[in-house]
Amino acid sequence: MNKSHDKVVYLNREPTVIPGAEHNISRNAISDNALKVLYRLKNAGFAAYLVGGSVRDLLLGREPKDFDVATDATPEQIRELFRNSRLIGRRFRLAHVHYGDDIIEVSTFRAPHRIDTSAGHAVDGRIIRDNVYGGIDDDVWRRDFTVNALYYNIADEAVVDYVDGMRDIKSCCIRLIGDPHERFTEDPVRLLRAVRFATKLGFRISGDTERCLSELAPSLGGIAPARLFEEVLKMFFNGYALQTFEQLRHYRMFGELFPQTEEALAHQYGGFPHTFVVNALRNTDNRLAENKPVTPGFLLAALLWIPMDRLARDNIAQGLKEMEAIMLAGDIVISKQTRSTAMPRRFTQLAREIWQLQPRLARSVNRRPHRLVQHPRFRAAYDFLLLRAESGEEVTELANWWTAFQQDNPVKKAHSGDKHNSRRRRRRRQRQS
Ligand code: ATP
Ligand code: MG
Repeated sequence: MNKSHDKVVYLNREPTVIPGAEHNISRNAISDNALKVLYRLKNAGFAAYLVGGSVRDLLLGREPKDFDVATDATPEQIRELFRNSRLIGRRFRLAHVHYGDDIIEVSTFRAPHRIDTSAGHAVDGRIIRDNVYGGIDDDVWRRDFTVNALYYNIADEAVVDYVDGMRDIKSCCIRLIGDPHERFTEDPVRLLRAVRFATKLGFRISGDTERCLSELAPSLGGIAPARLFEEVLKMFFNGYALQTFEQLRHYRMFGELFPQTEEALAHQYGGFPHTFVVNALRNTDNRLAENKPVTPGFLLAALLWIPMDRLARDNIAQGLKEMEAIMLAGDIVISKQTRSTAMPRRFTQLAREIWQLQPRLARSVNRRPHRLVQHPRFRAAYDFLLLRAESGEEVTELANWWTAFQQDNPVKKAHSGDKHNSRRRRRRRQRQS
């Protein structure tokens, strides 16, 4: 650990304190629930700061997605102070304070792992423990990017900056705190976060941080598949899926998340995988912009369509019937995919159903189309068919047929994206059987 000397100097830095009059965060922009939490902590004699994405977004004049609070109260003290709180977390404990659907996350200041010992680290440098409490001047060093490590003090409305985060906010720069190689190795999920924030905020990634991205991309393979899936959701359902995808490919991270898709893209099997994936992601962004429902199952079906279709064609060539070929290919492709990102069954199930409905859309034209329209997944399967047509597959005529059919035969039914309704229907079916 030859860097430990540098780091000690770094850790002793004094913060820059930006008084309330010199920054643009106004208390009115902070949610009532977050203010309630901050004031109750302060009035009980604890330090109470807004931290992370909310401070960053408020400084940028954006609406924060959620509000995170940092304090010197221990989880038990937080629990005592807020009857509506619950302690969560295995790797480190923090409190969720509940106000209906709104959750304010309150975490106790924690010290970073000790860099001069191997305690808390796996052999490859990843953090395995992170639960030593500390002060704000400890807490700041365990955070990821400088723009995510600014603290807004409710006591005097000042912003406390240990890491020149304010400078990076002003110059639109994503920069990892400390030595990037070391910090990315500790937690490779930060690689994905760098791309996500750069894309969402329209920031550049600082040179030394950026240099690590492609090099360390393979370390994503060591992250639990369930955690990777959580990140995939954050990256692809924030309205910037297409740009994020292009950046993930650029930094060789996409293949760590979707190896089969990456392989199809690299080899351009079928001639149009790139167009297809791009259209699917753009479709997701557009639907979110129009406040339409989106479901990860649909995007999963799209991302894995080319590898699934290729395998299904191989199966048919070996003598399987079309539906069997698709079912078998779907099983194989999904089971390989869950080794990288572990998805809940309801999403993989939707992907399978969308695939299986594709040949039925072709067949039902001459055979009971009214019945297929009643299928709970018809709408999703039809949207998928449109995507295939848009991307150059020879199904335009079929897609147009179904569009016209629905116009001529309007049916009152739940939208495919209406997860709640289809779940209710499924439960009813289960009760009946
Ligand atoms: P978003 O707008 O997506 O909520 P955010 O910055 O608030 O962005 P969160 O995932 O909510 O991101 O995390 C809150 C804060 O916790 C971050 O700003 C950062 O300071 C810290 N943090 C989160 N994940 C990590 C990580 N993997 N490594 C280090 N610090 C992290
Ligand atoms: Mg957040």
